[in-house]
Formats: sequence, C-alpha cells, structure tokens
Amino acid sequence: MTAMAVLGAVLGGGLAACAASDDSPGDRHTDADRTTAAARAPARAPSATPGPAKKPPTMAPGPAGLTPVLERGPQHADKVVALTFDADMTADEGSRAAAGEHFDNPELIALLRRLKVPATVFMTGRWAEEYPSQARSIGTDPLFEIGNHSYSHYAFTSPCYGLPTVEEGAIHDEVERGFGAIRKTGARNVVPYFRFPGGCYDDATLRALAPEKVTAVQWDVVSGDAFATDADAVAQQVLDGVRPGSLVVMHCTRSAAPVTDEAVDQVVPELRKRGYRFVKVSELMAG
Ligand SMILES: [Zn+2]
Repeated sequence: MTAMAVLGAVLGGGLAACAASDDSPGDRHTDADRTTAAARAPARAPSATPGPAKKPPTMAPGPAGLTPVLERGPQHADKVVALTFDADMTADEGSRAAAGEHFDNPELIALLRRLKVPATVFMTGRWAEEYPSQARSIGTDPLFEIGNHSYSHYAFTSPCYGLPTVEEGAIHDEVERGFGAIRKTGARNVVPYFRFPGGCYDDATLRALAPEKVTAVQWDVVSGDAFATDADAVAQQVLDGVRPGSLVVMHCTRSAAPVTDEAVDQVVPELRKRGYRFVKVSELMAG
C-alpha cells in the first residue's frame, strides 16, 4: 500500500461506514436505468423506441477471479477527474446521531448541485437508514450515483486503523445489507461499485468479495478532509494531487469532515480553469 493509500485508509477508517449487499446488483441497475430512461422520454414522442437499458460499466475480474480494483482512470485519460464522497456512519453510531451529531452534509450536496459537479457517493447502509430522504434525493438525481460502502463500516481486513473488524464470513451480508438499505430509501441510480471501509483489503478480501460482482473503487488522490479544520490546505492537497483521470476521496459527513464543502468550493472552479471536467466513477471507468 502506498503512503498515500495508507493515509487515505487512516482517514477513511476514522470516519467509518461501509455497506455491502449483493442480490445481483446488475439486474437492479438495469431496472433503475430503464425507469430513468422512461422518465426522461419526451411525452410528446410516444413512437420513440427507448434504447437498451444502459448498465454501469464494471471492470473485468482480476487474476483468479479476484474482485477488480480501480484506483484511477486510464493513464491516457482526458482532463477528467472524479470526486468521490464517502457517506460514513458506523453501525454503532446511532446513539451519537440521536444525540445530535451530524453524519450527513446536505450543504455539500447542495453545493455540488449548484456547481453542477457530477459525483459518486459511497454510502454505508447505516447512513442510508439514518438519512433516508437524503439518500433518496441523491439516488434519484442524475448528477449523482451511489456506490456501496458496506452496511456497518467495519473493516474487512485486520488491522485497519482501529476500525472494528467484520465477523468471519460476513462480507456477503455487509454488501447485501448495504445495497438493501440504500435501495429501500428509493434511491435508483445505485452502481455496483464498492469502497472498502478504511480502504483496507487484501487478496483474501478480494476473493471473498468476488461473488458480489462489484468493482472495488479506491483512489489516487487523498483530499485529507477527514477531521480537517483548514479548508485551504484540503483544497491545495487536491489541486496538487489531481492528474488527468484522477479519483479523489472526500467525505460527506459533517461531524468528521467539517470543511469539505468549503474546500470543494475552491477546488471546482480552479480545476475547471485548468481545463478539467468532473465525471462520475462510472464515466471514468468507461474511459
Ligand atoms: Zn469510510
């Protein structure tokens, strides 16, 4: 693991919340896309034949059928960059939310909409249960797509920066329960992508995850937004790290990443000035 990946894992671990769910996500996505396509079809052109449902791209399995891992777009990528936001909430944080802690960040989502920045949100099932209307709103807005960040945000390998570890054999449940909780909110644009809690994984994890038929999505740029108090520093770290095809990890969790929206507000116009276009992970993966 690179130093950068380790740093990301530490930060991700501090936040926590990963979801998982299987139930042939591909089929669900097909249905969702079909619904979306139908909703977009102009009412005055009933003769138009809707095209085939568009499935989100996935990567081919790795050697020996291991779950594929995406860390960035192709090296020859145009000046595109994918911002990703982990909506972290750990299974045991319900009492903290009840006491008033904000694991959501609606201002950040509103800002992305205002700036028209497509983004991919990796949501834990526990987060979706706590904030169902926000999950639905994100998951029905074509600007966004939702990936799975597990249900509980417990680590899939140990040690992982202090995160509790999932029980042996629980990976399938974590993925399935995560997708289930997200879908239950009414979110439709859910993609078969998975982000490991804390970013921690190994070959055994990739093997265990293989039946879920998801693509694991890591990153090449750590924003450093977790527990940050200096938005300028976060923005600078992103601007220094982004290359064509980069995948940036940030968080959509006010209590643990309080300056993310401020940093995004700086990063977006500057990257656009440098000629970058923002894309969702699905577009980055499609090349
Ligand atoms: Zn996380």
